[in-house]
Amino acid sequence: MPIYEYICLDCRHKFDVLRGMSYADEPLNCEICASDNCSRLISVFFSHSDSRTATATTQSSCGSCSANSCAGCSR
Ligand SMILES: [Zn+2]
Repeated sequence: MPIYEYICLDCRHKFDVLRGMSYADEPLNCEICASDNCSRLISVFFSHSDSRTATATTQSSCGSCSANSCAGCSR
């Protein structure tokens, strides 16, 4: 069963979740603030040392926009 990395878009907490592939895009709650505003990170691209920049540029969507980058939104 694969491990997916998620980031909470409210508190920027990153956490790993072990779940089946069919559940990869299912909503989940942040383990810190319980927000459901979480986004799955694409781990293969997530190797930058600057995690803040990597988070902004590697997630497939940020929940508030549908583009491949978050350059167009404030998050
Ligand atoms: Zn959170």
